[in-house]
Amino acid sequence: MLLGAVLWKNGWIVLGETQSVVRMTAEVVALLLLMDLLMYFFHYGAHLPFVYKILHRKHHEHVSTNFLSLFVLHPLETIGFGLMMLALLIGYDFSVVSISIYLLLNLIWGTIGHLNREFFPASFDRFFVGTTRFHNQHHLDESKNFGFYTSIWDRVFGTYK
Ligand SMILES: [Zn+2]
Ligand SMILES: [Zn+2]
Repeated sequence: MLLGAVLWKNGWIVLGETQSVVRMTAEVVALLLLMDLLMYFFHYGAHLPFVYKILHRKHHEHVSTNFLSLFVLHPLETIGFGLMMLALLIGYDFSVVSISIYLLLNLIWGTIGHLNREFFPASFDRFFVGTTRFHNQHHLDESKNFGFYTSIWDRVFGTYK
C-alpha cells in the first residue's frame, strides 16, 4: 500500500475517472481474471519445494480449512499479492470504485473459499467458479487447483481437479 501511494504520487499509477457502471463492471471482471492468472503462477511457484518450506507451508497446515485459514499467510505472500496488484494498476487506469469492489470481493471470496462447508450450488463448478470445494480440494491434493476466483487457469494449464 505504501509503495502504491509512492507510485501514485509520482504518476506511475493513475486512477481512472469512469462513472459508467458498464465500464466499472468490466474493470472488476478484468481485475478478477487477471489477478486470478497472476495468483495462479504465484501460487504454483509457492509450491516449488524450496519456496514452499519458507513461504507456503504454514497455510497448508490447515488441511481442514475454516474462515480464518485465508489469513494464515507468510508476510511475503501478502506482499506478493500487493505487488501483482500494483503491476496491474501501473498497466491500466482502473477506477477507485472498481479497485474497492475488487478488494471487497477478494476478501469475501477468500473467506468463502476456506469455509469447511460448500457455499455455492454444485452446478457452479460448470461455470468455472472457484468454489469452496474447488479450493478445499487444493488443501487435500496440493498439486491441483492453484487458481482461486475461477477454475479457468487450472483448466487451461491442466491442473484442474
Ligand atoms: Zn497452496
Ligand atoms: Zn487455502
